[in-house]
Amino acid sequence: MAELRSFFSHHEDLTQVILYAGVITSLWFAEMMASIDGIKNKWKHTAVNASFIFTALPIQLLLTTFVVLISSWVTAHHWGLINFIPYHYNPWVYYITLFILMDLCEYTYHVTMHKVEPLWKFHLVHHSDLKVDVSTTTREHPCETCVRTCFLMLWVFICGPAIGVLILRQTFQSFSNIIAHTEFRFSERVNKVVSLVFITPNLHHVHHHYQLPYTDCNYGDVLSIWDRLFGTYGKLSREETVFGIDTHMDENLNGSFIGAVKIPFQKFERKQPEKDIY
Ligand SMILES: [Zn+2]
Ligand SMILES: [Zn+2]
Repeated sequence: MAELRSFFSHHEDLTQVILYAGVITSLWFAEMMASIDGIKNKWKHTAVNASFIFTALPIQLLLTTFVVLISSWVTAHHWGLINFIPYHYNPWVYYITLFILMDLCEYTYHVTMHKVEPLWKFHLVHHSDLKVDVSTTTREHPCETCVRTCFLMLWVFICGPAIGVLILRQTFQSFSNIIAHTEFRFSERVNKVVSLVFITPNLHHVHHHYQLPYTDCNYGDVLSIWDRLFGTYGKLSREETVFGIDTHMDENLNGSFIGAVKIPFQKFERKQPEKDIY
């Protein structure tokens, strides 16, 4: 038992991957049991989304090296916004402040991906899934993986977190993203309380609605406070929510890995919102 504990404490990255895979697989099986679509369709849908893991992994592994290097540099040189925060030598102040700061950065990143046209073309591949379930978590265009990790380098340089903060944040972020995409929604009562601070599946499902202005709301990564603060908070019932993106509702295109990867290189125009919800 002691050897096992020592192994996991020395292989934090591997522990995270095992935990991540465990949670995603358990939720996938739970979704399958509750699904009315049938196992064949679920497999087909999962296979397309899981293919994105093979393009994301090498990019992520390579670029994360630079994230770690920047984090080591900022820590050694006491660089970054965290150094302006009073009592930042206290570990609680240090970890909690950086977690919140990095979450604000991720919110900014997500808004940027929606509002800057060339970046939206890549991010919409995530939105093009016509059925949102736990496998949608991994549906990310390889170019977005690249952009996202480059933005992370910028956030690390601006905020100044140590590796420990990044590991803690990555763990929370992974679980939050998995939960946000699961088919299971919270009951209205639970959602009302949890969504005061955190992004819930109920909130993220609205973000996956096929039409504006709902696509452009609930940008939060782990915390929902930024959407409430900056006026991008949106609500839509399960019955009214239709997954996908209005410019790309073709099932054959979205249901193939190659088809989805090609989307950003095709010509299309974003449709305007029918009403203002803010
Ligand atoms: Zn989005
Ligand atoms: Zn999503």
